[in-house]
Amino acid sequence: MALLSRRASAVTRDDQDPSERRDHDQPWLLGPELQLSGEGESDACYRQQDVPLVELARLGRGVAHQSSLPLVGTPRQRWLRRNSAFVFVALDAGPVLPSNRRSVGTVDSDFNRRRGVLLGLAVGDALGAAVEFETRGSFPPVSGYRSGGPHGLAAGEWTDDTSMALALADSIASAGWDLSDQAARYLSWWQSGKYSVNGRCFDIGVATREALARIAAGNDPASAGDAADEKSGNGSIMRLAPVSIRYLDWFPSDVALLADHARQSSQPTHRSSKCLSACRYLSVVLAALISGQERDEVLSPDWPALERLHAAEPLEPAILEVARGSYRHKRAGQVRGSGYVVHSLEAALWAFFDANSFRDAVLAAVNLGDDADTTGAVCGQLAGAYFGAEGIPAEWLEGLAQRELLEDAVQRLCRAC
Ligand SMILES: [Mg+2]
Repeated sequence: MALLSRRASAVTRDDQDPSERRDHDQPWLLGPELQLSGEGESDACYRQQDVPLVELARLGRGVAHQSSLPLVGTPRQRWLRRNSAFVFVALDAGPVLPSNRRSVGTVDSDFNRRRGVLLGLAVGDALGAAVEFETRGSFPPVSGYRSGGPHGLAAGEWTDDTSMALALADSIASAGWDLSDQAARYLSWWQSGKYSVNGRCFDIGVATREALARIAAGNDPASAGDAADEKSGNGSIMRLAPVSIRYLDWFPSDVALLADHARQSSQPTHRSSKCLSACRYLSVVLAALISGQERDEVLSPDWPALERLHAAEPLEPAILEVARGSYRHKRAGQVRGSGYVVHSLEAALWAFFDANSFRDAVLAAVNLGDDADTTGAVCGQLAGAYFGAEGIPAEWLEGLAQRELLEDAVQRLCRAC
């Protein structure tokens, strides 16, 4: 295994027509073909689209070091600025891309999928917000953003699911892994409206409010969530995306560690066995999809990562039943998009598992009604991880309120990797 350590200045095949650089299976991303000239102050312009350096390093099983990695730009822009002065350590470990990477459809890269997870969460939340608490079949089917709903939001505005995900993302990016910091940011949202789409906390689940009140009174965030089975709400799976985005590298080598962080992320507000198990399972599924594993493989009853997860710590039986495909042969009338974490996870997977597009998946989820915004948010994470941000309809991205907050959160999480 060769080790390359350079102050990079390389641009390979910079003269190539950008339109020809769409295929991520091109062999020159990393590996022996990567040319590093090692000339200090650099013309560090890597023009491969959609793949920031941190992603390149990860895909190449390498490590990128820099305190402020200049992760810039949008597709077709320069990724690295001149004078970036980074150290790039690439472990030339053979295959450029995972062998199970999909190369079809709308999925371009891990970064695209990481964006997809968080943006998908918010889009699903916003689509469902207008029909939250409505009975399935009692409202005109949702086909796009609409205003109204119990909180009187404008079209494209989102709710507590996205606010808490933004708070969690901000905490991880700013403070690393720190439950007290996560809890403090949830309190900022509840008490001051930070991370809210409109500057105020207009919706909060009962279990979350009670737990945050205990934290405000001085309780340890790690044990603030109610552990009672009847408190098994979906308030921690709805915000989970940042954990899988940030700790993606632990899949597949250490699913137990990834799952443990997901479990911890639930504890400040939801501490029942079902909630903890649901977070553990969902975090690994999201990481697998972001990594490019095929959906059928990830959701199969005998998925090896599921077996490892269950062996490391048994999943709660109701969650294990969902993980093994309880939803596969159910019709819409047999699944419920309620606030109960088992229902919510099952409904999101039911909407996602055979959908042909992000749109189909998320609309199937929110049109279940009931806790539609959260079913949409959980399904949006799954569909976003699988179809990527580029699989989200453009009009939904463009109409998403405060999208820049979500884009910035993904960028910051990736820089922290
Ligand atoms: Mg909500």
